[in-house]
Amino acid sequence: MPQSRQCPKCSGSMAEGFVVDATHGSMAVSSWVEGAPQKSIWTGVKLSGRGRSEISSWRCGRCGFLENYAPAEPGRKHGEAQSKQALLAVAILLGVLLAVLGVVLALR
Ligand SMILES: [Zn+2]
Repeated sequence: MPQSRQCPKCSGSMAEGFVVDATHGSMAVSSWVEGAPQKSIWTGVKLSGRGRSEISSWRCGRCGFLENYAPAEPGRKHGEAQSKQALLAVAILLGVLLAVLGVVLALR
C-alpha cells in the first residue's frame, strides 16, 4: 500500500489510519467480514468460519473523504474466539439457572 495517496474527490492528500471498534471495554481495529451478516443471540452477529481482514482507512485532510482497504489475511478465521464467547454465555446462563433453583428450593 502506498505511503501517501491523492484524494479521488478533491485531489487533497490522504493519510493512513484505521477505524476503531469500542466493545466490552476494549478497543479493536474494525474488520471486514466475508458474506452477508447473520444475527446471533449470543454474539450479535455470527463470524464463525468466515474470512476476516482488518480495515485500514485513508482520510483526506482537505475534504474528509475516507477510502478503506481490507487486505487479505490468509488463513485467518474468527471461529475460536466466538465459540469461547458462546461457551461463556452458556456458563453464565447455567449459573443464573442454578441460583434461581437454589432460591426456589430454599423457599419451599
Ligand atoms: Zn478530498
